[in-house]
Amino acid sequence: MKHLFLVFVFYSLSTIVSAQEDVAELFTKGAVRYDFEFVGHHNSVEVVKKQTKYLPVWGGNYNALTSMPDYGTYRYQLFALGSNNLIFQKGFSPLFWEWQITNEAKQETGSFYQSLFFPKPVSDAFLKLQERTFGGEWNTIFIDTFKVDDFYIINEKYPVPPIDTVTFNGVPSKHVDLVVLAEGYREDEMKKFSSDVRRLTDSLFVAAPFSLHHNKFNVLALQTPSVESGTDIPGEHLFRNTAFNSHYYTFGSPRYLTVSDMKRVYDALDGVAWDYIYILVNEERYGGGGFYNFLNVCSSDNARSPFVFCHELGHGLAGLADEYYSSSTSYNDFYNQEIEPWEPNITTMIRFNKKWFRQITEKIPVPTPREAQYAGKVGVFEGGGYTNKGIYSPVMSCWMKEESAGEFCPVCQKSIEEAILLHCK
Ligand SMILES: [Zn+2]
Repeated sequence: MKHLFLVFVFYSLSTIVSAQEDVAELFTKGAVRYDFEFVGHHNSVEVVKKQTKYLPVWGGNYNALTSMPDYGTYRYQLFALGSNNLIFQKGFSPLFWEWQITNEAKQETGSFYQSLFFPKPVSDAFLKLQERTFGGEWNTIFIDTFKVDDFYIINEKYPVPPIDTVTFNGVPSKHVDLVVLAEGYREDEMKKFSSDVRRLTDSLFVAAPFSLHHNKFNVLALQTPSVESGTDIPGEHLFRNTAFNSHYYTFGSPRYLTVSDMKRVYDALDGVAWDYIYILVNEERYGGGGFYNFLNVCSSDNARSPFVFCHELGHGLAGLADEYYSSSTSYNDFYNQEIEPWEPNITTMIRFNKKWFRQITEKIPVPTPREAQYAGKVGVFEGGGYTNKGIYSPVMSCWMKEESAGEFCPVCQKSIEEAILLHCK
């Protein structure tokens, strides 16, 4: 009986592996960039197609085309035309989704530029874009047939900005390719940019689990110059002419630093292999922003920048939620407490067996009181995801909550590690 079981497991694993390899054969060298605008209100969304490009390189892993975790507020899928087999899937959390839950979105129409990236298919494919509803279901909002020989697909030579290679460990398809773009650095400030990137990535690679996986990363610093130094601070009537139009006061929050002009960001990357985009803003003021599989932003010169740099990448790389619960975020219904959130480091206890259940190794009360005796232990602590009731975090203190934690908690570390390893299969 035991032997039979082993044979079955071996057979199942080999089927999965060969399925992944078969899928990889459906793609060729290069990538597709599919541009559109999200246009909508708090309860509606329309996808307005803009342009499609063939890019020379794709930074992703051909062995993980359909095995990325089902995280994100949106996801896109590619199916082989005819067989209807899933050949690529990726989830992401765009800025548009966060805007949709602001009060502004109840009164105004918003428009946000977005690109989807996937490896270049050898045959025509069917593209499906879905949003995650408040009830947690996937709802299809857009479909298109991607025709590989459509003569409108732009296929140009793309200029590549000067690149300072900070870390190189090998081929992009087997490594995590982190590209850092200069924002608010003038042409004559590129030495400072290189030194800022090194300082902040050095702080990243001494933090677990990044410290254990430094050799799985390529880090490229893209020298994209701005006309002026710094960034926009709309609440203080300060505006600077910069490469990507970054600004504080996103959705009214003084420290929320994001980028309005995503098209310019993507244009700068057309000739580069990448997995994660980090915009480093030449600025002393505290701030940042991080979005799963979409964007990471951080200011360079604040005393807390090394912490913010790590925290935002927790969102961007691993889809981690904020574990803090006292904040001035101006969102309505960020989390539906009737369902289990998709983020790996918070729970509503509705399907806790799918979360960090197995990482609770000690006899500990659940929920776990926020008392000194449980400091540093993995439990289930009420408070997280911007609310102090109904949402629970794995530890009392973690970098997804506050700087004083000194590190990512074991649950966040495990999620980050899984995300890293997925790029190296
Ligand atoms: Zn954590």
